[in-house]
Order: sequence, then C-alpha cells, then structure tokens
Amino acid sequence: MNKILIIGAGLCGSLLALRMAQRGYEITLVEKRPDLRKVTQDAGRSINLALSDRGLRGLRLAGVEEEAKKLCIPMHGRMIHDKAGNTFLSPYSGRKDEYINSISRPGLNMLLLDEAEKMPNVNIIFNHACEEVDLENASAIFKDFNSKKEIKIEADVIFGTDGAGSAVRKSMFESHKFLFSFLQQWLSHGYKELEIPAAENNGYRTYKNALHIWPRGEDMLIALPNLDGSFTVTLFLPYENSDYCFANLTTPEMVHEYFNKEFPDVVEMIPNLAEEFFGNPTGPLGTVKCSPWNSFGKVLLMGDAAHAIVPFYGQGMNASFEDVVVFDEILEKYTSEENINWNNLFKEYEALRKKDTDAIADLAVDNFHEMKEHTAMEIFQRKRKLETAFEAEFPDEYYSKYSLVTFKESITYSEALKRGRAQDKAILNLLDDGKIKDEMSLKEKLELVKKETEAILHDDEVAGNLK
Ligand SMILES: Cc1cc2nc3c(=O)[nH]c(=O)nc-3n(C[C@H](O)[C@H](O)[C@H](O)COP(=O)(O)OP(=O)(O)OC[C@H]3O[C@@H](n4cnc5c(N)ncnc54)[C@H](O)[C@@H]3O)c2cc1C
Repeated sequence: MNKILIIGAGLCGSLLALRMAQRGYEITLVEKRPDLRKVTQDAGRSINLALSDRGLRGLRLAGVEEEAKKLCIPMHGRMIHDKAGNTFLSPYSGRKDEYINSISRPGLNMLLLDEAEKMPNVNIIFNHACEEVDLENASAIFKDFNSKKEIKIEADVIFGTDGAGSAVRKSMFESHKFLFSFLQQWLSHGYKELEIPAAENNGYRTYKNALHIWPRGEDMLIALPNLDGSFTVTLFLPYENSDYCFANLTTPEMVHEYFNKEFPDVVEMIPNLAEEFFGNPTGPLGTVKCSPWNSFGKVLLMGDAAHAIVPFYGQGMNASFEDVVVFDEILEKYTSEENINWNNLFKEYEALRKKDTDAIADLAVDNFHEMKEHTAMEIFQRKRKLETAFEAEFPDEYYSKYSLVTFKESITYSEALKRGRAQDKAILNLLDDGKIKDEMSLKEKLELVKKETEAILHDDEVAGNLK
C-alpha cells in the first residue's frame, strides 16, 4: 500500500489521516505545533466554530459523527441584538430539524487525533514544521523544534493540509516548473476574540441555543456558546479609517467608550473587557484561491491550504471536511486499479471541487455584508420572515440561500450560489416593488418568487453564455 505523508494535523489533516488509514494506507501525519491534547490552548484562536451538515457528513464518513455531536450545542437561529438591547431570534430555517452547532475547535481536533491515533497504520509527529517540499519526489524537510535539527520524510504522495499560511503551497508558488496561480485578498477588517464567562453553576448569561449577532453596519460582534456556560465572542472591526477601529482603540477608556456606545448589553457580561481586548491578538481575515492544487501527481493541497475563506458563512471547516468526502468518493473509483494513477485522481478531484470552493469563498464575503449590515435592515428582515414561512409551510419546495449552503449538502456550493443569489434578488425586487401583497396567500407568494427566480436564472444563463 502507498505511503502517505499528511502535513498539518488541524481539522482537515486529522480527518483525512483517519479516513485514509481506514482505507489501509500507511499514514505519517506531521504537525508544527505541540500535541494540543497535552498543552494549554492559546487564548483568542477561534475557540469554537459553527459545524453544519456538510461537515457532519465528513465526520459521518469516518465514523465519528456521534462522538462529535456530544461536543455540540445546537444553535437554531441568529439572535439579533439592537443598540437599545432589544433582541429577536431569526431562525436559520423554517424546517424545525435544521440548525447549526457550536463546537469547540480544540475539542473536535482532539477527537479526530484520538481516533486517528487508534489506527495501527497512523504515525503522528508533533513539533515538526514543514519548511520545504520536493514536489517531484514527494519528500519534505521539517524543522524539529525539540532537537532543532532538520529531518527529511519521504512518501509516495503528500497532502498539504497545513492551513491558510501553507508551507506546502509556498513550495508550489516558488516552483518554476509549472504555472501556479495564486490570489490572496484581505478584508479591511480584522477580528478579536473575547469571552463572556459562564454564570454561576455553568449557567449561560444570555440565550444558549443561538448564534448571537450585534450588527452595527461597519462593525459587528458575534457570540457562540460553549459547553461550560461561557460564550466565545468575536469582534469584527475595521483596522483603520473609521471612528472606532483597531488603530484608534488604544486605551481601556476608548474600548469602554466604544462598547458602551455600540454594545451596552455586552459590557456587563464581559467583566475583564479591556484586559481581554489588549491581551488577545487581532487576526486578519482573508481569502486564498490558487491553482493547480496538484503538482506532478505527488502533492495535493486540501482544506484551507487550497482555499482559505473568510468565516462569515461558518463554512471553512465544513468545506474542508467536505473536501475529504469528495476526495474519498473519487478515490473509491480508483482503488480498483492495481497502481493508482494519483495524477489523474488529483486532477479529477480539482476539476470537480475547485468551482465549489471558489463559490463558498464568494458566498462568505457576501455574508460578511449580510451579517454586519443587512440583518439590521427592515427589508432584509421581511425577506427572512417570508423565506422562513415558505420553508415551514412548503418544506420540500423552498430552500433559502442560507439553507442551500448550510443544510442541503446534496447540492454543491456552486449550485447553491447560483440559485441562492437569484432567489435573493427575486425576493428583494418583489418586496421593493410592492409586488408581494398582504392579501396574497403564502402559496401565491411562493409561486411569484419561483417565477421571478427562474426568470433571473434564465437571464444569468443567457448572459453567461454570451461571455
Ligand atoms: C475567526 C474564525 C472563525 C471561523 N469560524 C468557522 C466556523 O464557524 N465554521 C467553519 O466551518 N469554519 C470556520 N472557520 C474556518 C476554519 O477555522 C478553517 O476553515 C479550518 O480550520 C480549516 O482546517 P484546515 O485543517 O485546513 O486548517 P487549520 O485548521 O488551520 O489546520 C492547519 C494545521 O496545520 C498546521 N501547520 C501549519 N503550518 C505547518 C507547517 N509548516 N508544518 C506542519 N504543520 C503546519 C497548523 O498548526 C494546524 O494545526 C473560522 C476561521 C476563523 C479564522
């Protein structure tokens, strides 16, 4: 059986290692950081994440869905907080069984490492940072942080799952032996994590089963629940050129002034606000697109290394887990061959997958604007209400853009983008033109939206064909 080297034991790498080991490959999984099961966690590094259907499908494939669900807190909708402290819950779907989950990043990563380590054909090496990959010969040089020496690991095939700042991708970028395209785009906003601690007896200081949002136009605060009663809060704020931005929130007084003005109901829930604000790092938010993901049939990028996205659809990890599912389906076809042609396999995988990861990257940027601005707008709230009613009343006939992306893993991200954007445009146009009238039945409203959506999809197709 082929020897597989997987570089990066984060969420994607550890799931991939487990799955490939289940298929019988000899796996070496190498991670730059220390074993996270043995050290205390860095503060402020995205402590929890939203896990939804596409991610669950990946976990199911490797037989760890049920264990992962034990770490999950269901979030049924967005709890919107206005400046006056009023709240309202906007459900994620009109179908009662559709919700997303808050899950601990280290908790999930530890579960995947534990499961991978149980396999006799997996060897996990920590504290080794990949420095360079020999793309043609499938070997990589690592710096061992314990001995400070360099070591070389050879394999038949390498997977680069070393995240958004991938060293494997850098080796491809620097190679002059093939044409490698690379795009990196930063938002003008950064993020900072804070914590709402648990109340007494691990109680929750605000509603537990929702993703909380304080939308304020240019900036936004969100909070996701943790099992211990705390919430991980993330502030999204411009770096500069704004009344309040990271560049000018430089003193505890400024931080308190800003929070008292924009998020007064949060201030009382974060006792050490200024201390946390200055103690935790500010992270950048970017999109990475690149191609090809494969070099010489020897190395393949996967997860954030291939397609880092901004976090506003809560889909980065989900997409990375879906990568493993899509790859596994293609691998299944090739396993009947005596000697797998990895080059063909990798090419087929990229041809199928890239348009979808490009689509979720674009959708995630759309959702940035939706969350920080649109969720507070009246027309958007009317649209959401209508869509929730459609989904509740006609569960098989209507899926909002959010539901297509988050709950309908049987369709691809690129299909979700195409249909979802057309639907959004259709409903907003119809509402704005006053064509959706109170006296109409819900069924009549649905038919009108469907007709308008089809007309937009048709126009898009014609325009696309003319390109
Ligand atoms: C603020 C924030 C919030 C997010 N929220 C969500 C969410 O709600 N839902 C969701 O689905 N996604 C979310 N994401 C995205 C998600 O975190 C990523 O998409 C996901 O972690 C990708 O998994 P990965 O394994 O590809 O990369 P990573 O999880 O980054 O793992 C990469 C691993 O490689 C290791 N590594 C790096 N360099 C080297 C090297 N040179 N040698 C060896 N090892 C190396 C790293 O230490 C790490 O362990 C969020 C991201 C951010 C920043």
